[in-house]
Amino acid sequence: MRNYYEVLESSPDSSTDDLKSNYKRLILLHHPDKSSNSSKGNEIIEAWNILRDEGKRKLYDAEIFQDQIQQSYNVFGKFTVSELSQPKTCRCSGEYFLDDETRTEILEGEEEVLIECSECSLVIQVTR
Ligand SMILES: [Zn+2]
Repeated sequence: MRNYYEVLESSPDSSTDDLKSNYKRLILLHHPDKSSNSSKGNEIIEAWNILRDEGKRKLYDAEIFQDQIQQSYNVFGKFTVSELSQPKTCRCSGEYFLDDETRTEILEGEEEVLIECSECSLVIQVTR
């Protein structure tokens, strides 16, 4: 998956103003009309069109987050808080147990929490 933040030489923490000034600087160097390597310029425009829009940026951030989780953990599955009123059994026959504190955290706004299996290295993602 293409990283639009890298394309704009910025990071997910960058403000829209920062992104904008990077975009302006980069597009001067790589504008598709001027540059022989026009795909670079098009990529910059594409990145800016997504990241300038708050709604699109949010969706994109969520996609990246999902992507990173799946790359860095072995995810067994994705469940909601109510599906975890009983502990889930892992494929190793260990268990995923949602404690009250974590349950409250999720319900009060944490978007997504990872819970580790009691026996193996798999995790589950828990959402509201
Ligand atoms: Zn397990």
